[in-house]
Amino acid sequence: MHTFEFMRPADAAAAVAAAAQAKTAQQGADVRFVAGGTTLIDLMKLNVETPARLIDINRLPLDKIEATPNGGLKIGATVRNSDLARHPTVQRDYAVLSQAILNGASAQLRNMATTAGNLLQRTRCMYFRDAAMPCNKREPGTGCPAITGSNRMLAVLGTSEHCIATNPSDMCVAMAALEATIHIQGLKGARSISIGDFHLLPGSTPDQETVLEPGDLITHVTLSPPVTGSRQVYLKLRDRASYEFALASAAVVITVAGGKVTRARVALGGVGTKPWRSPEAEAALVGQAATPANFRKAAEAAMHDAKPQSENGFKIELAKRCLTHALQTAAMS
Ligand SMILES: Cc1cc2nc3c(=O)[nH]c(=O)nc-3n(C[C@H](O)[C@H](O)[C@H](O)COP(=O)(O)OP(=O)(O)OC[C@H]3O[C@@H](n4cnc5c(N)ncnc54)[C@H](O)[C@@H]3O)c2cc1C
Ligand code: SF4
Repeated sequence: MHTFEFMRPADAAAAVAAAAQAKTAQQGADVRFVAGGTTLIDLMKLNVETPARLIDINRLPLDKIEATPNGGLKIGATVRNSDLARHPTVQRDYAVLSQAILNGASAQLRNMATTAGNLLQRTRCMYFRDAAMPCNKREPGTGCPAITGSNRMLAVLGTSEHCIATNPSDMCVAMAALEATIHIQGLKGARSISIGDFHLLPGSTPDQETVLEPGDLITHVTLSPPVTGSRQVYLKLRDRASYEFALASAAVVITVAGGKVTRARVALGGVGTKPWRSPEAEAALVGQAATPANFRKAAEAAMHDAKPQSENGFKIELAKRCLTHALQTAAMS
């Protein structure tokens, strides 16, 4: 049986110092922070994660949602997903985030799951979660059985010959459309990074999923002040109505004036190896009339580089329809 040491640091500096002993903050980390535990403990039970030390961060003062001086929002790393989704400011000004979170998991899971844990949730690829199978993400160099095997749920954007795993998060897709900034405290001090630069493409190192280094503690996430008049929608398409990951999802934040789109932020879920911001769709929208035909053109642009696998080609058309419908719903709201 796997054994591990458990510690509750007194403050963030102690948590960072303890985690900095790890050899890596990526797959195979021997030290892990634990927040809600809904990803990590699952993977420990499956022997996919085998840390020797767990650092419980739940007592650190990282559980507040506060306004920032510039009119934005600061979301603590251990804010529970349900508290974030139900926060009045989030529901009013960042509705796409609230909708995305409420479309994920179940009420019980959302009550445990945290902001930082959600940012770092792992793929649901069945080979990754089965320690008896080869998997480049879990054990580099062993191969990717999903490419010739079961890949219906896996990605069509951002894949490589080494890994085609989907990033499963709903929250991150909304945060990508809101251009969230992630704040990290590490051994060398504090730094911040935009969500678009936080997750890595698999390339030849699918075991490296984020820019995090040993010791790095996510302390909070910030959102810019809401854009006046923006219309926001998160649409998630899945095999069943609840408790299921996305086959395709779309987060849109658009501004329409005089019948034209004047600003657009678009991100897709369920189809990318990371939360998938689409500058192509945004460029296709801005300056154009807010019509179904133009929304479809934007969706075509978003999926232009999609690469289907043996079982998931249907996702390309599904994602186009998902984005078109999300844009239409936002424009009419
Ligand atoms: C059955 C099931 C269904 C689900 N369905 C969905 C769904 O439909 N949509 C969806 O988006 N999600 C879904 N999820 C995933 C769920 O949202 C995540 O498990 C959850 O958000 C993880 O948060 P946590 O706090 O429990 O993370 P943990 O399990 O505590 O941690 C996850 C990872 O983050 C690291 N970590 C945590 N906090 C920090 C920090 N502050 N700094 C640095 N590292 C940190 C941990 O070390 C660990 O590696 C589902 C999960 C389950 C079990
Ligand atoms: S898709 Fe990625 S996670 Fe899944 S088996 Fe291949 S390498 Fe592993």
